[in-house]
Amino acid sequence: MFTAHNTLTENKNSRPIEYDCKIALAGNPNVGKSTVFNALTGLKQHTGNWTGKTVECACGCAKIKDKTFAVTDLPGTYSMLSSSEEEKAARNYIAENEPDCIVIVIDSNVIERNLAFALQMLSIREKAVLCLNLSDEAEKNGIKIDTEELSLNLGIPVISTCASKKQGI
Ligand code: GDP
Repeated sequence: MFTAHNTLTENKNSRPIEYDCKIALAGNPNVGKSTVFNALTGLKQHTGNWTGKTVECACGCAKIKDKTFAVTDLPGTYSMLSSSEEEKAARNYIAENEPDCIVIVIDSNVIERNLAFALQMLSIREKAVLCLNLSDEAEKNGIKIDTEELSLNLGIPVISTCASKKQGI
């Protein structure tokens, strides 16, 4: 839960933690978003393979170098334009909390399908990073992605991750 003074409480038993920067993770279901969240925060947001698993936004903190990041795992959504409960929750979160940066997590194996979501998200919020997750699976499938070219075309940083092995995190 966020307060007006840049502090975050991970759960009702924890103390408020001061943070420097607020980021939100967004993406289609099953792209490994919760795994990225867990790898960043050290928390154990439940991961699984069923659609609609994450119905609320989970919050945690990530310490990277000397900065503390408040990280929110938005509900998995296929689009940002329809009126499903998950999409409303994700849109409302972004409108109300104005994260400093959105990390758009996509599946490197189905990049064309997932990029439509990424472009929708970029039309809502320009400050974003594209996270190409499941890079290990894509490599096994012989998929090579030119991250520099993609970054130039989208105008945002693009990184490649294998969240389940904490690579690229
Ligand atoms: P979410 O629905 O986007 O939150 O996806 P989850 O984090 O629940 O992950 C879905 C499944 O993909 C789980 O079984 C994860 O262990 C697995 N997973 C996540 N990231 C990776 C990755 O980089 N590589 C591989 N091979 N599996 C991953």
